[in-house]
Amino acid sequence: MQRGTRTIERRTRTATRPHNVKETPVTTTPRLVAFDLDDTLAPSKSPLDPAMASLLIELLDVTEVCIISGGQISQFQMQVIDNLTTASDAQLEHLHLMPTCGTQYYLHQNGAWNQIYAQNLTDDEKARALEVVERIAKKLGYWETETWGPILEDRGSQITFSALGQAAPVAVKTAWDPTGEKKNSLREAAQAELPDLEVRAGGSTSVDITRQGIDKAYGMTKLADLTGIPLDDMLFVGDRLDENGNDYPVKVLGVECVAVEGWHDTAAYLEKLIPELRAAKSAE
Ligand SMILES: [Mg+2]
Repeated sequence: MQRGTRTIERRTRTATRPHNVKETPVTTTPRLVAFDLDDTLAPSKSPLDPAMASLLIELLDVTEVCIISGGQISQFQMQVIDNLTTASDAQLEHLHLMPTCGTQYYLHQNGAWNQIYAQNLTDDEKARALEVVERIAKKLGYWETETWGPILEDRGSQITFSALGQAAPVAVKTAWDPTGEKKNSLREAAQAELPDLEVRAGGSTSVDITRQGIDKAYGMTKLADLTGIPLDDMLFVGDRLDENGNDYPVKVLGVECVAVEGWHDTAAYLEKLIPELRAAKSAE
């Protein structure tokens, strides 16, 4: 790990942003670049495009990289790990994986992905969460019979309700709840019955139940503790930095953020960022 071994040159980055990247210019050289996964690095629940995989591998040569998502490690496996087969062990050692918003943490050590920790819900918390969300979904008429995979998932540190199953096609999901009204009413009713837990809107048709205070800001704060890299030296790239988005807590935390609309945007941004980081690294 290169962390903490040197001071990185501070300077103003003046890269041209992709036309629809909305955030203000980044003013410092990050020591770690963190990414949301779905619709930031890859289409929702889909593998990385080979072009994005190449960019990520290049990025691992010049900085620490984190991927943080509400999804579980099996999704990281399918979307990310399985598509970084050309990365060397040395490169992968700079990649930090944070499934379920950083309640789990994986590092590549001695040639394999190792779980560093997992903060799981207790059996009682899981049982109550599963019972409440199923009962309320049925009462509201949101318990679908035609689904793509199970509606309820025990992700260890998180219980997830996916109205149509995890593997539902994007178009079907979008059509199910175009305004987010169903998801929000389910979320509110379940939250009222689970006051000690936190019920949050996840993806387009999903609701996540975790311990209180678990969101991407929690994960990023953990990451700063784990790596010794201050939040001020990190950059976060996400597609849902709007007030209702699941990336918004990172912005509120004060981490420098770059808003994108899909992986093509992220790729365009990385094509500018990587040469800058490489130049900063060689100038050390
Ligand atoms: Mg996203």
